[in-house]
Amino acid sequence: MEKFNINDMTLDDAIAYFKDNVGAIVVADSNADSYRSVHKKGIFNAVLEDTGKYHDLIEKLWYHLSNSSDTVVSEYKGFVKTSGLFSGIYSRKVEVVINDVSKDIQVTVYPLKEKETYLFILDELDQSQSVDDTLTTQKVKSFQNTYLFSMYIDIAKDTINSISVTELSDDVVNQELKYTQWRMMIVNAINSKFTGKFLELSDPENLKNTIAPGATESLDCLMMNLEGKEIWVKLIFSRVRTSNPEDYRFIYMVQDINDATKALREALDKSEALAYKDALTKIFNHGRMETEITNAFINQVKKGEVVSMMIMDIDFFKHVNDNHGHSVGDITLRHFADILKTYFDNCNGVVGRWGGEEFVAVCYGADRSKAARIAEEVRQKVASEEFEVVGNITCSIGVTVLNPSDDFEKAYRRMDNALYEAKSSGRNCIRIA
Ligand code: GH3
Ligand code: MG
Ligand code: MG
Repeated sequence: MEKFNINDMTLDDAIAYFKDNVGAIVVADSNADSYRSVHKKGIFNAVLEDTGKYHDLIEKLWYHLSNSSDTVVSEYKGFVKTSGLFSGIYSRKVEVVINDVSKDIQVTVYPLKEKETYLFILDELDQSQSVDDTLTTQKVKSFQNTYLFSMYIDIAKDTINSISVTELSDDVVNQELKYTQWRMMIVNAINSKFTGKFLELSDPENLKNTIAPGATESLDCLMMNLEGKEIWVKLIFSRVRTSNPEDYRFIYMVQDINDATKALREALDKSEALAYKDALTKIFNHGRMETEITNAFINQVKKGEVVSMMIMDIDFFKHVNDNHGHSVGDITLRHFADILKTYFDNCNGVVGRWGGEEFVAVCYGADRSKAARIAEEVRQKVASEEFEVVGNITCSIGVTVLNPSDDFEKAYRRMDNALYEAKSSGRNCIRIA
């Protein structure tokens, strides 16, 4: 298509000029969030409405949502805004899926005289045009696998430019956006847990004052990618090597670290889980239960929420070992732990092995009477269970309610005294202190 200036033509002239050559012509107004298809044929009947929302148009064309079953989330709409304003002719190839068939189309945007109004010219690319393209596309893709995005920032001029690689295309972006505007827009795509850190790092004064020429700062965070999925990325700000102290140009890059970070997190989670677990019974260990109780005081009890805890001790467990051997004792302990775990998982409780044949549980939302009911149910459940080799066993339970003037030691002592009472009252019973 020959070069021409759309502002020299009327809209009717422009439409007449394109009509026979292209698949669709759309007039769009981003300010009014609307578009109108003035001409469409072939596949574009399925892609475009006669009239619709500008955002929907952008989403369909830019973010290849038709190629995914993802729903559009609100943060993602925020990301759409980062398209910024088109200030010159802008063109890119996008892939859309129509009735399960993937099609490549070329989208060209001509800004109209009126600010934020555009003429979109859409054309289907035939197979040969698409094939010609694969080499560049592959090159771009392999680069994008590591670096999703990069651009130049000039803090002194408050500009960004040469957004060299976007997730989808290798087009030069012809858009106008100030660095400070861009920064406030990108915040929408960053998981809110990292917003504070991002704002701190990307603050123009911070970049100027803390990053020396040639130096780099980065932030690992979760960020919405163009498909609306959260992935781990490394946001990198690298100051250009310069001998001019007033030169505040930076390169900003987004590196995809999703796979590596997820693998690391999984490994850390596994190690953490191992550190928390009792080796024999596989439920929480003593240390983890101490943490649970300490946290319950801080997070619940001090805020007025009701929490109880209880200790469960198997009666005459020594006899199990003496009569059947230590390994049967171990099997019995595992079985006992399984019963407790299943029970407390279902009543908003957390249980762990305190040591030997003693187990402790923290019960959230359980006041005195509810805690007594829980303890009694556990006692009955154990008493009625058939244990391998040993048959029936019983346990005694000491219960106490945590109160805001307590501390760990005081509450533990009350609970232990209650257990002692249960033992001295003949065992296979519960007592509350
Ligand atoms: P009580 O009703 O007063 O609680 O009597 P008990 O026999 O249960 O209590 P005691 O404290 O006298 O004995 C606990 C026994 O638990 C002694 C110890 O050998 C056994 N034990 C502790 N840890 C383990 C373990 O990991 N495996 C096995 N098999 N036995 C254990
Ligand atoms: Mg004991
Ligand atoms: Mg015992």
